[in-house]
Amino acid sequence: MIDHKFKKKFGQNFISDTNLLRAIVTDAGVNKDDEVLEIGAGAGTLTKELALSAKKVVSYEIDKDLQDILLSERPENVKYYFEDALAKKTSEIEKDFLEGYKVVANLPYYITTPLIFKFLEESDRVESITIMVQKEVAERLVAPVGGKDYGILTVMANFYGKAEIKRIVKRTMFFPQPNVDSAIVRIDIDREKYKEIDKQKFSSFVRGAFAMRRKTLSNNLSASLGMSKEKLKEFLPEDQLSKRAEQFDCETFVKFYKNIFQKK
Ligand code: SAH
Repeated sequence: MIDHKFKKKFGQNFISDTNLLRAIVTDAGVNKDDEVLEIGAGAGTLTKELALSAKKVVSYEIDKDLQDILLSERPENVKYYFEDALAKKTSEIEKDFLEGYKVVANLPYYITTPLIFKFLEESDRVESITIMVQKEVAERLVAPVGGKDYGILTVMANFYGKAEIKRIVKRTMFFPQPNVDSAIVRIDIDREKYKEIDKQKFSSFVRGAFAMRRKTLSNNLSASLGMSKEKLKEFLPEDQLSKRAEQFDCETFVKFYKNIFQKK
């Protein structure tokens, strides 16, 4: 292993297994025409594999102690930034890309969900997100309607496109070893799907619907929209309002959203 002091606060769990790194590149569907955004370069192991398959890789690493290692072995088509990718504006990040691009990342678990939302909500150009997540998060992304894993993340993944679990990765594949198993998930983004709908407004509508899992849609929506339950009935059927958010698929949420916001 490299001479590096691993930092827990940055969620550093590195991968060195070449077969796994190659498999992640394949899972991401990266090819010679692609521009790729990597977040969390670590020791650059995935970066190098991506560089072999992609046209260009732009990679962010928050830990400046990794700068020497990364720059000394930088492939020609890789550009490194030693910055916090979450804090940087998406529009700034995108200046490095010609048009569409793919996000690929093995990141600390506590920023995977915010990162997925950041790119889904703020970008019009990201084509897909292939990301290492805790197995539990992967299951939430692809959960069937009504189950215990079904929630905001599932609805939003379906709103933007389609999520698929590509592979399960055992904890023993990382150094240092984390306490949980992981999965590679790919979200393919379809910008045409609900393009007539305001992304951020829809997202907060869905968050509001799921705010209190045990409460009915009527309770949650009336609180989050600041609308009386009586008024809500003008927009949505009563039998639906008495159900919980987890009982509705993305398409139905879109219908509800349109009823409320486009007929008001
Ligand atoms: N992708 C590498 C490293 C995984 S560990 C591999 O697979 O081996 C996750 C890496 O993300 C760490 O190097 C950590 O320092 C970096 N990181 C954590 N938060 C970050 C952020 N907000 N922006 C950029 N990099 C970050």
